[in-house]
Amino acid sequence: MEMKIAVVGAGGRMGRMLVREAFRNESCHLVAATDRADSDLLGQDAGSVAGVPALGVAVTEDARAAFSAADAVIDFTTPAATVAHAELAAETGAILVSGTTGLGEADQAALEAAAARVPIVWAPNMSLGVNLLMALTEQVARALGPEYDIEILEMHHRHKVDAPSGTALGLGRAAAAGRGVPLGDVSEHVRHGHTGARADGRIGFAVLRGGDVVGDHTVMFAGAGERLELTHKASSREIFARGAVTACLWARGRAPGLYGMKDVLGLA
Ligand code: NAD
Repeated sequence: MEMKIAVVGAGGRMGRMLVREAFRNESCHLVAATDRADSDLLGQDAGSVAGVPALGVAVTEDARAAFSAADAVIDFTTPAATVAHAELAAETGAILVSGTTGLGEADQAALEAAAARVPIVWAPNMSLGVNLLMALTEQVARALGPEYDIEILEMHHRHKVDAPSGTALGLGRAAAAGRGVPLGDVSEHVRHGHTGARADGRIGFAVLRGGDVVGDHTVMFAGAGERLELTHKASSREIFARGAVTACLWARGRAPGLYGMKDVLGLA
């Protein structure tokens, strides 16, 4: 039977892409779409908003109704909205697939608490390529050892509000895991002025913002006499939307728990 999907934040850049993906995918169909109470899009057809034929699903502000109607809800919104959506998932039993980034520790804890009652898939990046990059980063960090300096560089479009990107932080966690240390102990986020020489064992982050760049990430391993660079470039947000819908289909019938794209893609 086709899976019933709801998209919360359906008016957003990712929300529109997700509605298009749910329309294209024959294994699911859209049953509800929401956005913020002050959105201009309330009452409009979610399909028309997303640039596909009208789907007979109006954008509303009623998240509870969306969770009650759907088997799975896809959320690419804001950290505060994602926490509220996780609580609704736990109450209604709908699967939650979230790609929201910029979550703080308390937000992560709220997601974990809700995941005791329903399957939740959360990933800072839903693309196959990036999840392979994460796995490779951990492997290379383990193989090369601390004499190779690790630097993570990312670039995104001018509208992005959090930095470094959730994906860059995920790559940092993967590199730190390869070295057997917590990222928080070794990450270095700002360099400006007289910084002194680079300290051993740090993982540095550099952030660029501009234009309409969907998402570029490079992990560098810089040693004496050689440098290894692993790069992923996203040219369309479709890859994230496709990953999110795949995650919904994968999560159907699973036990409650907090899952990542590694689980969905069989890379765990
Ligand atoms: P956006 O600002 O274009 O869209 C966010 C949408 O959420 C807006 O329409 C907004 O009105 C809506 N929203 C906010 N609060 C809401 C609420 N309480 N209820 C319902 N709707 C609400 O942003 P975007 O570029 O689509 O990105 C959204 C999030 O997804 C960001 O955190 C971004 O970093 C993340 N993202 C993740 C991936 C991934 O693969 N995991 C990929 C791209 C973007």
